[in-house]
Amino acid sequence: MLSVQDINVYYGAIHAVKGVSFEVEEGEIVTLIGANGAGKSTTLQTVSGLLRSKTGSITFLGENISGVSAAKLVSRGLAQVPEGRRVFLQMTVEENLEMGGFTQPSSTIAPGLERVYEQFPRLKERRRQVAGTLSGGEQQMLAMGRALMSNPRLLMLDEPSMGLAPILVEQIFDIIQELNKGGATILLVEQNAQMALSVAHRGYVLETGRITLSGPGKQLLEDEAVKKAYLGG
Ligand code: ATP
Repeated sequence: MLSVQDINVYYGAIHAVKGVSFEVEEGEIVTLIGANGAGKSTTLQTVSGLLRSKTGSITFLGENISGVSAAKLVSRGLAQVPEGRRVFLQMTVEENLEMGGFTQPSSTIAPGLERVYEQFPRLKERRRQVAGTLSGGEQQMLAMGRALMSNPRLLMLDEPSMGLAPILVEQIFDIIQELNKGGATILLVEQNAQMALSVAHRGYVLETGRITLSGPGKQLLEDEAVKKAYLGG
């Protein structure tokens, strides 16, 4: 579904992503794990059209999407849930969700809302509440629901566990697995390697801009180097 080949991304003189290649197949959960500053968000933002690679290619659903704008990519089925959620704090839950559907024909908004509310009953309860007053976990659900409103083929999540209490992290990862079982293909960027690798079919380890290891999620969980560097032992 997604094929990233040899991308190199710079911030001025800083070479943040160095020759990164990876694949996501339809129906998979794939995770990119790595420490602070490893280049995970930069990689995701390059796929979603917010940053440009100097080299290589990015293919989504068989088409080269290098240089295609983020807005166009959303209409083509690529949705991103950004790091830090970035919900519209002054708007209500429902208005946030409607914003997520803006690339879709207006007739699909009501059924889209129904689907999201079925997935996230908490959002339905709070649909008239302004997003700024939601808890961190609820804001993460809202950011995910907003992305789902564009009816994506591929959902990309940037550190959904960030800043959440362990119980909420578990809940968010349960939802990620449920979405996947319902047919969603997911690319997940995480610092929480334990959780990410335990739900992912396959994972890639990013270190200072390069992929140093890859394999099935369960296999990486057992890898001695991964355990030492990312799993506290
Ligand atoms: P984190 O988990 O902390 O978000 P990350 O793996 O997502 O880390 P990136 O945010 O992709 O890492 O950052 C990769 C490198 O690029 C880091 O060295 C970072 O300092 C640098 N970088 C990121 N954004 C910018 C920017 N806007 N300007 C300059 N350098 C940047």
